[in-house]
Amino acid sequence: MGQFASYDTRVRILGMGKQEKLDALKKELETANLPLKNSANLVFGEGNIDCAVMFIGEAPGFNEDMQKRPFVGRAGQLLDELIENVGWKRSDIYITNIVKRRPPDNRDPLPEEIASYKPYLASQIEIINPKIIATLGRFAMSYFLPFAKISQDHGKVFLSEGRIIFPLYHPAAALRATAVMDDLRADFKKLPDVVVGKFPVKTAQSESKIENSAILTKKEKPSQIKLF
Ligand code: URA
Repeated sequence: MGQFASYDTRVRILGMGKQEKLDALKKELETANLPLKNSANLVFGEGNIDCAVMFIGEAPGFNEDMQKRPFVGRAGQLLDELIENVGWKRSDIYITNIVKRRPPDNRDPLPEEIASYKPYLASQIEIINPKIIATLGRFAMSYFLPFAKISQDHGKVFLSEGRIIFPLYHPAAALRATAVMDDLRADFKKLPDVVVGKFPVKTAQSESKIENSAILTKKEKPSQIKLF
């Protein structure tokens, strides 16, 4: 079983269905003494719990904090458009963030905030068990692929700790720079192919680059984060 923060919750979730497990996790997050608890609302995540693709962003912003929903501001509108452009609906996918409360003034999440919310994200991923994790921005990418560089590794397919990770630029970054927008749009078009496994996957231990595929394999050890 995964890393629910408390033993009690871990025991209670045995035998529960996916939605019940997520509800139990959310309940625990609501009361846990975590950073940002006193300054912001919980934005747990939402969407199709049987999704193929789980999008993971950085942290909620102002609108997300207000509505207690992820990606509902301008970046979220762009994300919705990109999802629809590949023929999917927002209700087909699941969206959450690595840090589940808004950092003050939208500053970058601190390492200790990311670390504190990590067990909850790990459990959320384990419960949902998506085929693909599409990370949005460098913070979410680094969580899974600490060795990767967003400018060179966006739109490539990685296998890390048994999960397929597809790093994408953050939609907010795309709204600020046309070149990033072009890359994000191009990467998004690959998503349906990534989902059906058109990009063969090698284990992270392998050093060879696969011919005709966008999969990078790295010598470096993958993330130390234990997801399973
Ligand atoms: N940016 C994020 O990383 N997450 C959100 O939910 C909204 C904006």
